[in-house]
Amino acid sequence: MYTSEKAPAKINLTLDVLYKRPDQYHEVEMVMTTVDLADRIELFLLESGQIKVESDSRFIPNDERNLAYRAAKLLKERFLIKKGVIIKIDKQIPVAAGLAGGSSDAAATLRGLNRLWNLNLTMDELAVIGSEIGSDVSFCVYNSTAIAKGRGEKITELPPPPQCWVVLAKPSQGVSTQSVYQSLRLDQLDHPDTGGMIMAIKNADYQGICTRLKNVLETVTLPKNPEVQQIKSQMLRSGADAVLMSGSGPTVYGLVKHESRAIRIYNSLRGFCEDVHIVRMLGAQQTLD
Ligand code: ATP
Repeated sequence: MYTSEKAPAKINLTLDVLYKRPDQYHEVEMVMTTVDLADRIELFLLESGQIKVESDSRFIPNDERNLAYRAAKLLKERFLIKKGVIIKIDKQIPVAAGLAGGSSDAAATLRGLNRLWNLNLTMDELAVIGSEIGSDVSFCVYNSTAIAKGRGEKITELPPPPQCWVVLAKPSQGVSTQSVYQSLRLDQLDHPDTGGMIMAIKNADYQGICTRLKNVLETVTLPKNPEVQQIKSQMLRSGADAVLMSGSGPTVYGLVKHESRAIRIYNSLRGFCEDVHIVRMLGAQQTLD
């Protein structure tokens, strides 16, 4: 028995940090959407009861540290499942990039095993289980556009944004999410207009979305990683309508209405940035004027 799932990347349209909680987590408020750059997860039923991860990416662990492995282990223990699974991961999403690749692999594993192991859980139930694996896993269970609050695990779905092109570029120098949050100066933040972003999405107002892109973690990552600012500037020079760093970075994205402009930005970045992708937002239906 076999099943497969796509595990798409997410980008932040906003990322706000409100305060540090007594449990040491940061209380966040983020508007995120899903793009069509995806890993592929294949799940093969194992009668033996073992959980195995196989991947040819040299950037991710193939053992119990893999988030997809942790997702399978959690379901197996919680629902006393006797069978096992081989999880094959075809990695397309850049790793440690601010695109939630690991979280999306975990979420896809939850969705796939829900079928393979006949668990009959709802998406909401899977999202609650996913929050035990990582803060972004709940969002990734739905693969939609949503507001994420709490540690990122309290999800309220939104309609998809109006259709546009997204150019993603990952600088070579990586970023540690933990160190970004540790260096964040909460008293000096210029907060995003989250309410305005939500209204702009509901009104399919592309310009309103562009003017409200904001990520408070840029205040930490930009000064430490000059390539992030260089890529943002290059995207704007090449005609991006708006640019932002996703998550804790370092991936930067630019929004444009027309494919020809996306290709122009893509070409202008090749040469000094290796990892560049032209993608679309998932579920976006409305046509632009
Ligand atoms: P987020 O935006 O949720 O902070 P990210 O995009 O910055 O995530 P990931 O690509 O999810 O980062 O990887 C973060 C870490 O998780 C890496 O150090 C990686 O080794 C580990 N990891 C474990 N399992 C996976 C997986 N299946 N795919 C990617 N990374 C994984």
